[in-house]
Amino acid sequence: ITFSLSVRNTRPFTHAAVSHPRLSRFFLPSGNLAPAPGERESTTDLLIRAGFIRKSSAGVYSLLPLGTFVQRKLTAIIHRNMYMVGASEVSLPSLLPPSAWRKTGRWDNTELYRLKDSSNSEFCLAPTHEEEITSLVSREVSSFRQLPLRLYQIGRKYRDEKRPRGGMLRGREFLMMDLYSFDINIEAALATYEEIKMAYRSIFDTIGITYAVSEADSGSIGGDLSHEYHFVTPVGEDTLITCDSCDYTANVEVAVSYPSAEHIYDPDVVAVQYGLTTDGTLLVIYYPPDRTVNENLIRRELPTYNPSVLDPVGEFRRNKDPMLQRMIRIYDERVSEKSSLPDLPVSINIGSITSLRFPCVEVAPSSHPNELCPHCANGTLRESRAVEVGHTFYLGTKYSSPLKAHFTAEDGTNKTMEMGCYGIGVSRIISAVAEVTRDDRGLSWPVSICPFEVVIVMKPNTGKIDDLAIKLYQDLHKAGCEAVIDDRNDKSFGWKLSDSKFLGFPVSVVVGNKYLKDGKVDVEVRRTGQSISCSPEQVAQTVA
Ligand code: ATP
Ligand code: MG
Ligand code: MG
Ligand code: MG
Repeated sequence: ITFSLSVRNTRPFTHAAVSHPRLSRFFLPSGNLAPAPGERESTTDLLIRAGFIRKSSAGVYSLLPLGTFVQRKLTAIIHRNMYMVGASEVSLPSLLPPSAWRKTGRWDNTELYRLKDSSNSEFCLAPTHEEEITSLVSREVSSFRQLPLRLYQIGRKYRDEKRPRGGMLRGREFLMMDLYSFDINIEAALATYEEIKMAYRSIFDTIGITYAVSEADSGSIGGDLSHEYHFVTPVGEDTLITCDSCDYTANVEVAVSYPSAEHIYDPDVVAVQYGLTTDGTLLVIYYPPDRTVNENLIRRELPTYNPSVLDPVGEFRRNKDPMLQRMIRIYDERVSEKSSLPDLPVSINIGSITSLRFPCVEVAPSSHPNELCPHCANGTLRESRAVEVGHTFYLGTKYSSPLKAHFTAEDGTNKTMEMGCYGIGVSRIISAVAEVTRDDRGLSWPVSICPFEVVIVMKPNTGKIDDLAIKLYQDLHKAGCEAVIDDRNDKSFGWKLSDSKFLGFPVSVVVGNKYLKDGKVDVEVRRTGQSISCSPEQVAQTVA
């Protein structure tokens, strides 16, 4: 198969033997699943029953042929957009040695799969590739003349997710597009960041599913430059806060990690600030001695934030506020039973300060103080659930510094490269698109990433119709439409008609009794349910 930069590959099959793609030739097992009556089938079960994916173990999935068609469309969109911003493709290993991970302090990350070979050498399975790519670039690049550099890959990532869920929404092994940028200075790196953001918009525009770009916390990295790309859906694990009056959109959950039991007594902390966040959780912010805090980020998290109201840590526990007292009690109880650590309040990093987020379920939404937008101070904030499908980060020298990605600048001085990293969840998007487009008849793929654009559904075992199907396929192919013939003769015509809707092909061309009677075929649009009756000669024109 030749690589094509075109999304709509008009010549996917050139070998004579497969010149008419036919569903009977593909491996399309049904998964032996039956939907439970009255219950909404999960999208993962839909994808399994429709023959797109199979589960291997928790959070690990195989793609079947229909799934690989979707994946290939999606990766083609990404490749084309990467090509347009001058990014070069690489393919980095999944099996990585620990040295660089120790230098960046990420070897002990709890999501890292660590393993040893037979001679006791340590490795990890790559969860992301900042360490590997920065090491590679630091060895290969030594002069400003070799910069800027944009390197990307579409490859497998491994994360020991504690709660894999939603099929490929949160997998332990998944496909990601990851791009890394290297620039000579901050200005150039920021310009790169903006350009890549535009490329991301172009990718998500092409996929064609409504998405939101949210401000995301840049955690310990510092600065304000991190954005996430989300599909809004109730199955999402993220919560977006959106203003109904300005374009402010932000992720309420940021850089999540669990605090150690000792954290609350951190001697470096001099004061605290606390209040209710817009999602009804109590947020406690700890100030380090130098008080280098990013106040914009705090304001975003905590609309009630008031920098003049600081509570020295000693006083914090003596504070009479009943809600604070209740939270401290809950916290202390949990710390005393250390076995339940994962249920502890979630710690988040805001700039260089640490804060704790206490789940505060008893607080009624009506008791939220001030829900006003922290950005325009005018509109009201709304919450929606969303799936993070992409993430862009301006990294500065977070990785280039410890991994010594230095270069000689034009003025002869030795400088450190300014980096950015950018990820798109390829596997996650497949599940997420299936989720947001499905309806009561099954899957409904957007044209951008559908396995085939048109399915020619033929009434089985009719010689006259067989010939017509091939003619229709050829006409559609000439018109630039990607069609497949449903020639499964062991299935009834009715079953095939509903299966074409269930598998979610955007358009069906139905050749059946109507054709045998008065020479007409039906062109049906999956999404809208619209149906047009026309002569076979008009099909290609109607569809294209
Ligand atoms: P999440 O917050 O959902 O755990 P993340 O912030 O850890 O995601 P990133 O490190 O930003 O993820 O990775 C880039 C992209 O990879 C994410 O935007 C997401 O689309 C995808 N991704 C991350 N983790 C997974 C996973 N476990 N399974 C599938 N896709 C994932
Ligand atoms: Mg994660
Ligand atoms: Mg995230
Ligand atoms: Mg992310």
